[in-house]
Amino acid sequence: MSASSLSGRELAASIRDETAASAAAQATAGTPPQLAIVVATDDESSAWYVRSMAKAAQQAGITCTIHDLGAEATVTAIGGKLTGLSADDAVHGIILQTPLPAAAKGADLASLIAPGKDVDGANPVSLGRLAGGLPAFAPATAEAVLAILEHYEVQLSGKLAAVVGRSTVVGKPAALLLLNRNATVTICHSRTPDLAGVTSGADVVVAAVGRAGLVSAEYVKPGAVVVDVGTNVTADGGLTGDVDAASVSAKAGALTPVPGGVGPVTTALLLRHTVLAATGSLQSPA
Ligand code: NAP
Repeated sequence: MSASSLSGRELAASIRDETAASAAAQATAGTPPQLAIVVATDDESSAWYVRSMAKAAQQAGITCTIHDLGAEATVTAIGGKLTGLSADDAVHGIILQTPLPAAAKGADLASLIAPGKDVDGANPVSLGRLAGGLPAFAPATAEAVLAILEHYEVQLSGKLAAVVGRSTVVGKPAALLLLNRNATVTICHSRTPDLAGVTSGADVVVAAVGRAGLVSAEYVKPGAVVVDVGTNVTADGGLTGDVDAASVSAKAGALTPVPGGVGPVTTALLLRHTVLAATGSLQSPA
């Protein structure tokens, strides 16, 4: 048996097309959507991501402004920038790029992003609203996990799901979104004993760890659906996931590829969120 590949590319393209049409309509109506990305790092992979995000935004007809404050930026400077962008009527979406300078506390800074412009769900208020079932922008990566499962019509209601990773940007919100779909969710982390024992009982496994190949065949039950969120840079500069694709694809029913799975859908959803923010609409929880 070989797992079917749950590519995110086709879904991402359809979200981008739909978003571009909405962005064009908003521009015609006099409100061209604008996304601001605040950067305070000289990390190369972060710079690559910001460039590709800006290109994707421009292709969708969304103005993207990059506010590069430099790796030495003070917490006050970053906070001031976020506060200013939150108050700027011409700006509809704000992303605070990571990593941040060592002195900065991500959650404190993200709290300065107006929730209506918090297109990557970074403000703790957004996560709280998500938990409470209130309209909010979910972190785009977590939402991408659900969007892929929905696109491929994976049944979630009444199923057992295991999420490996409990970060506020991926693991926790992905678990909340799965719970909203009536899955029974176990959240695993670095102190979870017998991780393979837990994940191998699940119908759906979401790997969001940041450790290349951690989830191997013994972590997966036959026929399970596996979503690989991991993006780990290999020695030759390529990208590999948290799932050992070679062994898992011989046992799972379906698996998202890396690259080409969660990543492109995440980018497309950030653009969709920006266009929604420009219309003043927060999303209902997915
Ligand atoms: P993170 O903040 O470092 O969190 C990693 C989580 O994995 C933590 O909860 C940690 O547990 C857990 N963990 C670490 N080692 C483990 C182990 N051996 N067994 C079980 N759990 C373990 O990472 P993140 O920001 O959530 O990102 C996770 C991955 O997703 C990374 O590869 C990242 O690059 C990728 N990512 C991809 C996208 C995309 O668009 N495709 C976007 C964002 C992130 P503790 O809490 O106990 O430390």
